[in-house]
Amino acid sequence: MTRKERIDYALSLASDTKVFEMGQGVSVAAPAVFGNCFPGRKPLLLADVHTWPVLGERVFKAMSDAGLSPSRYIIEKEEFHADWKYVDMADLLIEGRFDEAKAVENDPAHEESDPEKAFREPSDKFFVLVSIGSGVINDLCKLASHHHGQSYLSMPTAASVDGYSSFGASITYGGAKQTFSCPAPVAILADIDVIAAAPKEMTAAGYADLAAKVPAGAEWMVADFAGAAPLHPEAWAVSQDALDDFLANPEAVAAGDPDAIADVFEGLTLCGIAMQIARSSRPASCCDHLFSHILDMTAHRYKGKLVSHGFQVAIGTVTMCAVFDNLFKLDLTKLDVDACVAAWPSLESEQQRAIELFKDFPAPMLGYNEITKKWSPADKVREQLTRLKAEWPELKAKLQKQVYSYDKMHALLKAAGAPCDPEDIGLTRQKLLDMFPLVQLMRFRFNVLDLGKRGCFYDDIVKI
Ligand SMILES: [Zn+2]
Repeated sequence: MTRKERIDYALSLASDTKVFEMGQGVSVAAPAVFGNCFPGRKPLLLADVHTWPVLGERVFKAMSDAGLSPSRYIIEKEEFHADWKYVDMADLLIEGRFDEAKAVENDPAHEESDPEKAFREPSDKFFVLVSIGSGVINDLCKLASHHHGQSYLSMPTAASVDGYSSFGASITYGGAKQTFSCPAPVAILADIDVIAAAPKEMTAAGYADLAAKVPAGAEWMVADFAGAAPLHPEAWAVSQDALDDFLANPEAVAAGDPDAIADVFEGLTLCGIAMQIARSSRPASCCDHLFSHILDMTAHRYKGKLVSHGFQVAIGTVTMCAVFDNLFKLDLTKLDVDACVAAWPSLESEQQRAIELFKDFPAPMLGYNEITKKWSPADKVREQLTRLKAEWPELKAKLQKQVYSYDKMHALLKAAGAPCDPEDIGLTRQKLLDMFPLVQLMRFRFNVLDLGKRGCFYDDIVKI
């Protein structure tokens, strides 16, 4: 399939996104795309001090020339994160309350509003946001637009995350990073000239977020095999069919080559659309992302700074490739199913283990809640293991086709300029190893570590 065919296919299945145009110089189409998607409405460009000069200014002028009478708001902080305060700010902006929005932006002690009470009656008088920025600004626009019952136009400035086209916004509320459910943008206009000129670390982060789909896909296969999460054929096709090709040129990505960066951006956006199709983040993440969630929730810093999503995910990704390397060394046709079933813990003891493991964690009940959702009774475990023992050679062959070896993933990430060793983001190997029990328990989603627990080979696969 050509790029256009792949994008058209994905859009034909997407629930929220109707327009996705990508290419060098496509930002000139912003007035027309806005006019088509939001006839009669007034645009409000939301940018920051970095994204305004590289894209915002130009789009503002084009929209002014087209008679759209745009407004603008520039976040003046050098560095800011996706905190709820900025959602409150964006909510005010949509309603044209610019001075109040500025006061919120500048208030270090801002009191976060109640997420339940954030919804307004839709009105044609509201501004429609045009997101000029990367993941954070996009997520602010996504959630604030949802609060007003409307959509927005996303104009990305870096190929840094898959969140442009995914539903849900990842926002820190009450000190904890959470995903708030909200639709993806109706239109995405991705100017590759702008995206290719973004700081190299942002593109490398996006490459790593895309590379995560390799082990995440393998874990989806495992969950499908265990009967815990059936593969969604269309979402799979959209997110996985061209993935190997998109990841094949890390050196060109690092060198800023527009075609290679367009591949990364397309891959990320297709994965976001796959999430719309599957109505789940399953196509985009599994354990690879859970390492990152732990680092987010514990406010991990390296050299005094929070580590970007993609850089955290890079380490989770290469780690999970090592886990699969270990899995492939095992001969599961020799599994002692009776012994494994006899050793299978009760729900109560798993809940107890979770409480113990998470007791000093910022969300102490997380493991308890999630294991309660995904624990299976012994007869179900017997069924899963009996099938695993019988069909291991076929499953192993399928997984080997999907997942990369640690060596290959390590080399790709390194060539792309992404972290590939724990020390690259300020972690020790021991700290990484200590995260495995939390990773296994912190999400209701069935993962390869759950399979290891059932088959009594967990310890063998986490020896990295
Ligand atoms: Zn991600």
